[in-house]
Amino acid sequence: MKVTEYFEKAKGTTLMSFEVLPPLKGGSMQAIFDTLDPLMEFKPPFIDVTYHREDFVYKKRTSGYYEKTAVRKRPGTIGICASIMHRYGVDAVPHLICGGFTKEDTENALIDLNFLNINNVLALRGDARKFEGKFIPEPEGHNYAIELVKQVADMNKGKYLDTGIAEGAKSDFCIGIAGYPEKHFEAPNVDYDLVWTKAKVDAGADYIVTQMFFNNDKYFEYVDRCRAAGINVPIVPGLKPITKKYQLNSLPRLFYIDLPEILVKELEKASNAEARRQVGIEWSIQQSKELKASGVPCLHYYTMGDSDTIQQIAEAVL
Ligand code: FAD
Repeated sequence: MKVTEYFEKAKGTTLMSFEVLPPLKGGSMQAIFDTLDPLMEFKPPFIDVTYHREDFVYKKRTSGYYEKTAVRKRPGTIGICASIMHRYGVDAVPHLICGGFTKEDTENALIDLNFLNINNVLALRGDARKFEGKFIPEPEGHNYAIELVKQVADMNKGKYLDTGIAEGAKSDFCIGIAGYPEKHFEAPNVDYDLVWTKAKVDAGADYIVTQMFFNNDKYFEYVDRCRAAGINVPIVPGLKPITKKYQLNSLPRLFYIDLPEILVKELEKASNAEARRQVGIEWSIQQSKELKASGVPCLHYYTMGDSDTIQQIAEAVL
């Protein structure tokens, strides 16, 4: 079923969904099952699987020179999604990115997904590779997520890249996109960012999942701005509990988000790692409860492999 159909079926009640990371190369599918098994009691209708493109590392050769080598640390999403759907009988949502893919690669991935009855995708641009500093598309790839949304929407109309296909089978993908309550870091201002979010929706996106945030007001204001701009699709809040001290700096650095002063103070005051974890859990519970009371369609948790923490939050919010 499509993600948006779940929202419609829920008729105003708030669902819960989870996002998992593919295991590191050399790991196994069991790592994902270990994360998801304890969370299935919360009846998520869908599970997102993130995509991580290859990056470059420098390896020292015997000559002493360094060699630049491409390394893909995490496997792709298609097999993982199929396994999740098979094991739990829920829908899986692969994240599809522009980076590292030609349009042809994307078309092939979409064909595979369609054959496997994976009818939901989250269409994203992807980030710059660490050493490149800015996002560089593949030659013959997409520059922005909107182009990816258009390609998926085209396939939904039976339009393939291969113009030799006159009447191609129509896929039926439900298309999610990313949204940024605190603005995408490259956008010069919130209004500029919103113009492109609206353009993605006009191009065929069916719903939005937000970047994590720790102040619900940012989400509520974002939804208000979206509605005022004519964006009327469901906007799913993305939530991540902060549980470790280093995240006080790493989350703002990596995700360009603000942490409320009161949360920072409480985390700094906590005397040990477990006390800090409990501060983060309690904060996330309060955030979730307020969002649920406001009638959000779904609470979408970034699990990062930490099912214990997410389980504690979900139990308190249910
Ligand atoms: P876009 O919509 O392409 O926007 C990128 C920037 O360009 C924005 O500043 C926007 O305002 C601007 N812009 C957009 N279109 C145009 C245009 N046509 N012309 C000029 N400017 C434009 N990354 C991964 O690699 N793998 C994942 O699995 C993953 N999952 C994510 C899930 C969620 C819910 C979120 C919020 C992010 C995720 N990301 C993931 C990160 C995401 O790829 C990055 O944030 C990336 O930098 C932007 O992606 P986007 O789809 O929002 O890009």
